[in-house]
Amino acid sequence: MARKPDQPMQVDCDNERPWREGLPVRSCLLSLAPMGVGTEQCESLSSYVARLALAHRVSIRDLATEIIWPAAVGGMAHVASGCRPWRVRTLAGTGECAAQWSSALSELTKVPGLEALTLVRWGSVLPTKGQIADEDRWCPACWTEDRAAGRTVYGRLLWELHPATACPTHGTQLATVCPSCGAKRERGDKVVVPVVGYCHRCDCWLGDQESPQASADQVRRAQQLGALVRRTADLAERPDPVALGAVLREGVRLSFDGNVAAFAKSIGRSKTAPQEWMLGNILASLPTLVDAALVLNVSLPDLMAGTAVVERVGHPQSVDIDERKKRKPARQIDWAALEKEFGELALQEPPLSLTDIAARIGLDLRQVGKRWPDLAKQVSARYRALSDETWRNRMEQRFAAADRAAQLLMEAGLPATPKNMKEVLADEFCFAGSRLWTTWRERHLSGAPLVEPTT
Ligand SMILES: [Zn+2]
Ligand SMILES: [Zn+2]
Repeated sequence: MARKPDQPMQVDCDNERPWREGLPVRSCLLSLAPMGVGTEQCESLSSYVARLALAHRVSIRDLATEIIWPAAVGGMAHVASGCRPWRVRTLAGTGECAAQWSSALSELTKVPGLEALTLVRWGSVLPTKGQIADEDRWCPACWTEDRAAGRTVYGRLLWELHPATACPTHGTQLATVCPSCGAKRERGDKVVVPVVGYCHRCDCWLGDQESPQASADQVRRAQQLGALVRRTADLAERPDPVALGAVLREGVRLSFDGNVAAFAKSIGRSKTAPQEWMLGNILASLPTLVDAALVLNVSLPDLMAGTAVVERVGHPQSVDIDERKKRKPARQIDWAALEKEFGELALQEPPLSLTDIAARIGLDLRQVGKRWPDLAKQVSARYRALSDETWRNRMEQRFAAADRAAQLLMEAGLPATPKNMKEVLADEFCFAGSRLWTTWRERHLSGAPLVEPTT
């Protein structure tokens, strides 16, 4: 079947054809089993997508643009809209994207219920924003145990939840920084094929680091979130925000003698907010619900599902709000020294990216851009030129290899289909990149006839 370069790859896995009766169901993508479903160690959808891309030896970008996104939205709408689906940060959240991706991936892999790797099933009682942390977090001890037991190393849904800062199993704080190079990764950062468990920048194993002990409050929060993740797999019905509101009202009546302001104070929120949650008019965020569950001494999933049986708490304890809001102590910044360091790094060969430089001098990108806008622009331009050149060189090398492979195939009387090319090129590089294939094919349109990709 002819395919224009800007059309998504069509994969024929029509299971409805009569002659397929009695044969096993075929999936377009590898039927990769998600890890830990139904336990607090449940995998997150972002980890699942990363493992899927690695299993197919393709970049997340190709997997997202060519296969998942067209299946999720039924077309290539993102091409016109400029949307970059492979950079979505909240794949494990409650939003539309999490719902579309999980259902499309279930269809493509024939693995049912991938929704359980997200918070989608709790979407009726949670706002769409603010549930998922921006940065990547992990428990080194969990990964060390995965590896020691010969299990697949994978990212947990729990770690991505905004209020989780500790591992409920090990009672330690979650790590966010590579122990070797100091890199942090924001979810959705451009990483071609992230390998779960390894630093995206220096490739070092992230399981070998000592994590500080978490506070009692951090562990209690993590345990509540663990219970939520565990329940997600068998949550049959969409929870009702009004039922959740009723549980809150009953809790406040029993433990705070109906004093809404005292309840609000105990969880560090404004005194008018609980009224709105109780009526189901406004949805409370996940961090708020975790705190409410702790203060009212109920399980978080029971509270959210509206099924919690509330009992009177004799002396309700306020949650450690300071812990939650604790910010790093204001850092004394020696701007002159940083500017000097920035200037030196900006001239380094080969050029460094602005993100890299910002991380090395311990600032975030926004601060750098605001403080030294001109220098930041120069650094970005320099790095972009290097990236473009590297890309062009790599493509040239690959085209040359592809030319040689096509020549070999022609001499053997075989067509240069992607499948044949892939076999010949297997030792040199992975020929799965659709961009390489399309560009290379376009170059040869006027030359020897090539067979259209059919798989
Ligand atoms: Zn752990
Ligand atoms: Zn690193």
